[in-house]
Amino acid sequence: CHCLRLVLGDQLNPAHSWFQTVDAQVVYVLMEVRQETDYVLHHAQKILAIFAAMRDFARHLRAAGHRVRYVAVDDPSNRQTIPDNLTALMQHYDAQRIEWQAPDEWRLDEQLRQWATDQAFASASVDSEHFLSTRHEIAEFFAGRKQWLMEHFYRHMRRRFGLLIDAQGKPEGGKWNFDHDNRKPWPGTPAEPVDARPQHDHQALWQSVQHCGVNSFGDAQAARLRWPLNRDEALACLQAFIQDGLPHFGDFEDAMSSTGQRLFHSLLSFALNVKMLHPLEVVQRAQAAYYSGAAPLAAVEGFIRQIMGWREYVRGIYWAHMPAYAQHNALDHHQPLPHWFWSGDTGMRCLQHAIGQSLHTAHAHHIQRLMVIGNFALLAGLDPQALHRWYLGIYIDAFEWVELPNTLGMSQWADGGLIATKPYVSSAAYIHRMSDYCQGCRYDHKQKLGERACPFNALYWDFFDRHQALLSGNHRLGMVYRQLQKMHGPQLDALKAQALQIRARLDTL
Ligand code: FAD
Ligand code: SF4
Repeated sequence: CHCLRLVLGDQLNPAHSWFQTVDAQVVYVLMEVRQETDYVLHHAQKILAIFAAMRDFARHLRAAGHRVRYVAVDDPSNRQTIPDNLTALMQHYDAQRIEWQAPDEWRLDEQLRQWATDQAFASASVDSEHFLSTRHEIAEFFAGRKQWLMEHFYRHMRRRFGLLIDAQGKPEGGKWNFDHDNRKPWPGTPAEPVDARPQHDHQALWQSVQHCGVNSFGDAQAARLRWPLNRDEALACLQAFIQDGLPHFGDFEDAMSSTGQRLFHSLLSFALNVKMLHPLEVVQRAQAAYYSGAAPLAAVEGFIRQIMGWREYVRGIYWAHMPAYAQHNALDHHQPLPHWFWSGDTGMRCLQHAIGQSLHTAHAHHIQRLMVIGNFALLAGLDPQALHRWYLGIYIDAFEWVELPNTLGMSQWADGGLIATKPYVSSAAYIHRMSDYCQGCRYDHKQKLGERACPFNALYWDFFDRHQALLSGNHRLGMVYRQLQKMHGPQLDALKAQALQIRARLDTL
């Protein structure tokens, strides 16, 4: 009798133990469904890259001798939801058993579990063999603690995997964290590495997606899709990054530039999140670059922390707190997103660049996401759930388990401070220091009041004033509130009036 094994679009890991033996009784099922294109409005490249990578993966499995059933988006037999297709395929193959790899998203996990309980046949969910920690490990690690500090978990992981640990069992260089040495603005040198990513032409696939009536936004770029679509391509991207990007990753991790979009970031998040690359191999390659003298410790440690620390940590937060987590709105923000989130058409040059780049490439790096787009959204009081849907749709690497805690928690403080010990906000001074965006902007980063004043400035003070009741007790914000105290009177009144006016006309900024 047959067994079906479902492979989801973000489970394209050829090293999974499932694929190590060939069994004629096992049929691997991959499907392109409207359920997945439509749960949120997606960037065209995200839909295209996932479908194209799934097709490549199916070809790879067939070539290795496995039986594969691939349900294309325009296949007449496609019922367009995962459960409906599975029910039909179980019948078609007269299968008695179904297996799937544990999904990373709560919505899919629930859907599959519920569907399976109504069926007569046997079912099992197996490990996806991708992450370095289990779904619930972080909740156990932090049990009983009020604040779940990423840094604690990160050290635990470094010790467990012996990463950057010296012969005495101490962290290399005598410190766990070298952020102090990182985070410089980029003066234009060293030059950005050459973009070594592959180039694909997927116009035919894009036409069939469009023909099915799938809605999307952003540039399709079907004829020159720049994302790695299989493990070999992902490994080549990893190799190029370790050689050319990693040595400067730390120095310019937080820098932004209108002439360099990528700077020294890896652009590996898509390959990691669809599981073409394993996080351990990525961090081990980075570690090897340190030991061979090819990259400095501060850069390597900073990079490893993103993957072994942040990436695993946000996943743990997600599983510990879903489904309630998605509804949090601690600051009670309800302002709709301005229209320029879908066009980049704003006079604020930092946002024009960060959003314009996101629409064009389906990617922006961490500081653009956090300190430009997220910063503005939080200061302006945008609805965190609407913002979450925007982030989930626009980025090539956006899957809810990683996107939601980053957007709702880290960026919007909507979880009331579970992830971020204080809200990540700044006035124009930070953006001016870390980028060249302010040069040539319609607004003046130094002015607080008047027509030409940068909107970030008045919004910044107004934000802390509006949320005094909730935030003034936070010991990390003592200095901000002492400064605000000194501004009471006409100065603060004028800033509040300016902020009120800005918030009333977000669409026209
Ligand atoms: P690099 O800067 O080269 O970093 C290396 C890797 O570290 C990344 O590929 C990623 O796997 C990991 N990483 C870095 N920061 C984080 C983080 N905060 N959380 C989890 N992993 C991290 N990342 C996603 O993968 N998907 C998302 O949907 C996503 N949404 C975000 C939303 C907001 C509001 C913010 C502030 C951050 C978000 N991030 C998300 C984290 C981060 O911005 C991206 O992982 C990174 O920009 C991807 O580009 P890169 O591969 O060049 O990263
Ligand atoms: Fe952004 Fe203000 Fe600088 Fe313009 S002046 S780029 S709006 S921070």
